[in-house]
Amino acid sequence: MKVVILGSSNADVASRQYVSSYLINGNVAIDAGCLGYHGTPHEQEAVRHVFLTHAHADHTASLPFFVENVWTPTPDCPVIYGNEATLASVRRCIFNDEVWPDFVALSERMPPFLRLQVLCPEVPCDAGGLTVTPVMVNHLVPTFGYVVREGASAVIFGGDSGPTSRLWEVAHQTPGLKAVFLEASFPNRLRGVAQASIHLTPEMFGEEAAKIPPEVRIIAIHMKVRYRDEILRELHDLRLPLLEIGECEREYEF
Ligand SMILES: [Zn+2]
Ligand SMILES: [Zn+2]
Repeated sequence: MKVVILGSSNADVASRQYVSSYLINGNVAIDAGCLGYHGTPHEQEAVRHVFLTHAHADHTASLPFFVENVWTPTPDCPVIYGNEATLASVRRCIFNDEVWPDFVALSERMPPFLRLQVLCPEVPCDAGGLTVTPVMVNHLVPTFGYVVREGASAVIFGGDSGPTSRLWEVAHQTPGLKAVFLEASFPNRLRGVAQASIHLTPEMFGEEAAKIPPEVRIIAIHMKVRYRDEILRELHDLRLPLLEIGECEREYEF
């Protein structure tokens, strides 16, 4: 399985993840923070399945443009997956004929732009040769982490989440788990902000890492760019043997 953390900056692209999107095997995406700003329309058109963790803007900002870029006058369209609350927010706050045309309603009257597919927690979904299983995590709004499997290998995208438990129980029951993409949003001195917004600091990241099976790579993501250097120092101080710092536009293979 090939995973790319999509870049969202025109400078220091590897290290500035302003918003979140992950591309798997070129045809499945997790989140759409910058998916619609990435590559050519034809490259975007290869993405047929988009799994949203939640509706926050850093995970959905480019969804309107992705849907526009990939549209063709055929019956084919991308499928946007998420929990019920996420997809309701997407309809109410984005495709509402104010912020952006109601492409959901338009899709009933003309060649479709998108199809929304509600997922239930822990019910696996086959998409683009992958099996994707959503698991509820702990954030300000109902949020999914995703277990993504291709053949014998699996990876976990932890979504935005504060301290959580069910996802790590599932991790221990996931054969062939190779890596977890785990957020580290704020430095330790901003623990109060992290707790108020239900995110992790490096200290809290270390507590989550202890719940993950020990042979699994842990790839740190979702560092608020302004505090990145401080967060990286604090992550390195954890001395986790399999810790990696996520690099945008690098191809990870699992
Ligand atoms: Zn969020
Ligand atoms: Zn976020």
